[in-house]
Amino acid sequence: MIPASFSYHRPAVLAEALKILSDHGDDARVLAGGHSLIPMMKMRMANIPHLIDLQDIPDLAQISLEGNRVVIGAMVTQAQLINDQTLTSAAPLMKEAALQIADPQVRYMGTVGGNVANGDPANDMPGLMQCLNADFNLIGPSGERTVAARDFYEAAYVTAREDDEILTSISFDAHAAGYAYEKQKRKIGDYATAASAVLLTKDGQTCASASIAMTNLSDTPIWSQAAGDALVGTTLDDGAIKDAVAAALSDIDPTEDNRGPVAFKMHVAGVILTRAIQRAWSRA
Ligand SMILES: Cc1cc2nc3c(=O)[nH]c(=O)nc-3n(C[C@H](O)[C@H](O)[C@H](O)COP(=O)(O)OP(=O)(O)OC[C@H]3O[C@@H](n4cnc5c(N)ncnc54)[C@H](O)[C@@H]3O)c2cc1C
Repeated sequence: MIPASFSYHRPAVLAEALKILSDHGDDARVLAGGHSLIPMMKMRMANIPHLIDLQDIPDLAQISLEGNRVVIGAMVTQAQLINDQTLTSAAPLMKEAALQIADPQVRYMGTVGGNVANGDPANDMPGLMQCLNADFNLIGPSGERTVAARDFYEAAYVTAREDDEILTSISFDAHAAGYAYEKQKRKIGDYATAASAVLLTKDGQTCASASIAMTNLSDTPIWSQAAGDALVGTTLDDGAIKDAVAAALSDIDPTEDNRGPVAFKMHVAGVILTRAIQRAWSRA
């Protein structure tokens, strides 16, 4: 289908993008890789009179490691996440997850900023960012502010970002071991039926910390404090893993759709979470 007509803006600096956004209010939206927004416009589910393409703003497309802190610009593509060696050494969870998103064509265009700002419960990066306890860095007319990924998602497609704010970057502490991203999908290139991100640290044979997040099993990503707590202080014996899975399942609220009924999704969630915990522990 063909979208309704729109004006295309392509600013070279962030200040200009912000100005266009505030000049046009609800009639404007930023464009990143366009792999969610353009299909919505083509299907006439979104009518955006002013599109502000961010691809000419070079500062938004950098990946850096500042001490132990990883900073990823909003316009970094999923392909960059996969191919950046510094990032893979500092946070291999990013590569493991990005490789399970869509297909190579989509990953060359889809950006990390678009993926997390979209607010689609099926996107993989929001849960991943909650698992990493990432911060989202935003800029708007009143200046810059930071929102924790764990506080960002309010409902499907509703986030803490104001309409006149642009996500500039995402930052989180490096975490090089004890990671796993597990995803069940109907076919290659599909969104998750259920996905889970897990980060664990070990002290001797005991679990010292655990962070667990789930994707596409509620109308927002779910970070389960109770699931992590069920693992900390244990040796990750079968009983502890069962307790963690039970805790995570009581935090999610999947709905029936073309990926299956609720009972099936709960079953798949339990299987993929068990696998993710076991794989993360084997790498801790
Ligand atoms: C066939 C196909 C399969 C896919 N499979 C998956 C999958 O398995 N898993 C998955 O996670 N994703 C999947 N995607 C989505 C894709 O990976 C992109 O991440 C997603 O489209 C959003 O990124 P984008 O850069 O394309 O954003 P866009 O489509 O350009 O933007 C999405 C939304 O975010 C807003 N936005 C973008 N950047 C910013 C910013 N910096 N600040 C503020 N707001 C911003 C836009 O205004 C828009 O509302 C798939 C897409 C396709 C087409």
